[in-house]
Amino acid sequence: MTEAGSNSVNVLNAPFPWQGAQWALLSRAFAASQLAHAYLLIGSEGLGKSLFADGFAKYVLCKNPVAQSATGALVDAAVACGTCSNCLKCGAGNHPDILTIEPEEGSKNIKIDQIRWLSEFVIRSSHSGGAKVVIIQAAHLLNANAANALLKTLEEPNDNTHVLLVSDHPGRLVATIRSRCQKLAFQVPDADIAASWLHAIIGAGNVNSILEASDMRPLIALELAQGDSLQARAQFLQSICDVKTGKKSIQQVLSLVAKNGESEVLTHFSAFLSKLTKYSLTGIIDNKDDPALQSMYALLAPSKEKSLAQTVASSLALFYTEVETARRQLASSTNPNPQLIMESILWQWSKLKLH
Ligand SMILES: [Zn+2]
Repeated sequence: MTEAGSNSVNVLNAPFPWQGAQWALLSRAFAASQLAHAYLLIGSEGLGKSLFADGFAKYVLCKNPVAQSATGALVDAAVACGTCSNCLKCGAGNHPDILTIEPEEGSKNIKIDQIRWLSEFVIRSSHSGGAKVVIIQAAHLLNANAANALLKTLEEPNDNTHVLLVSDHPGRLVATIRSRCQKLAFQVPDADIAASWLHAIIGAGNVNSILEASDMRPLIALELAQGDSLQARAQFLQSICDVKTGKKSIQQVLSLVAKNGESEVLTHFSAFLSKLTKYSLTGIIDNKDDPALQSMYALLAPSKEKSLAQTVASSLALFYTEVETARRQLASSTNPNPQLIMESILWQWSKLKLH
């Protein structure tokens, strides 16, 4: 994989919010039949260039491109519809008019055999009767022979075929290949654009510090956020479960909390409590696939007796306001003592009657 986090966000046909200018340039050129034969997509890792190339290839093959405003994106340009027969084949990763080349598994290079394959793809006719697209991921990993072979293809372009080379390190590509391509540069997004995108995906959490840790590269930030905070959340929810069942002491949970930070775990706690309150009243389970939540629901069999369910729900709601107060205290500048606040919350939790 050449771009961090690709799998988790590969659900859209539209460009990322910080790629509007590049998308508009290419899609308008395509609509006007002025798309160049070869583009070189350059910029740091983690800006979503690979996914941009995938999405653009889909758009080129789509039978009914739609206005992007329909997809909720920011840029006024067309994108793939996602539902025509070509889009469905692209979505399944097997459209015969798109060829993606990248280092084979276990290899650090793109080899000449792969480029021979590419040359055959370029000269054969299109299956769907339209354009064909070649995507070369991590193009700087072409070995010398492969680069020479590719150069021949770029020197004799086929009208109907467009080549998108993607590279985090274009300086490592031979100059003769670079000079045959139109450059399309991707920049690190503005902080507020990156922050609102990340926030929409991960919800609560310290979006700004994660972005800083990633040098403002959104897909790397997403990887950081999902890796760390999801694991920490699961661990914390399990441990407060264990407090209720007597498997863990408050002290043990406190040492876990010290590792992850009080604010972060209280954010998870508060989100969890609102789900638990709803469950106690209605028996409705959210996020069936979330194992951390499932252990929590198991603590609390919804009572058939309405009055008891109401009592449990009221105690949960009351406790929820305590957690929210604790979160506000932690966020305030006159921060008293995070460990003490946490200890008090855990003690109240351990005493809470759930059935
Ligand atoms: Zn389509």
